[in-house]
Amino acid sequence: MAYEKNNIFAKIIRGEIPSQKIYEDEKVLAFNDISRAAPIHILIIPKGEYSDFQSFVSTANPEDISYFFKKVGEIAALVGVDKTGFRLISNIGSDSHQTVPHFHVHILAGKKLGPLLSTDNLLR
Ligand code: 5GP
Repeated sequence: MAYEKNNIFAKIIRGEIPSQKIYEDEKVLAFNDISRAAPIHILIIPKGEYSDFQSFVSTANPEDISYFFKKVGEIAALVGVDKTGFRLISNIGSDSHQTVPHFHVHILAGKKLGPLLSTDNLLR
């Protein structure tokens, strides 16, 4: 998938749209999801132009991939959910309902989240 330079997260990285930042450095940005699905709902993105997880792991250099996932763990610890547990999600492509075409992971936490998905719904 070609990278869309004007997607919402690209605009957030460029500071054209405000966000509630949790963490930022030269390679990674973490901010609160605008529409929380759990008491803690953080989005973590690399600043590079990757449209989804597949693009990230197949085209980013190994150091940047490693850096990103280490940061995800550090950010989870920063907000304290490493102690209580959290769910990490990345939607990829249309079947997963990815809505923003810039690779991101969701951290969901802050309560008992229950089973991941209802298999009943998935099989219908
Ligand atoms: P996806 O469905 O692609 O996995 O997740 C995209 C997420 O981005 C959604 O959870 C949605 O609420 C969030 N989102 C969409 N637009 C904005 C925005 O302008 N600001 C923030 N902070 N989150 C957004």
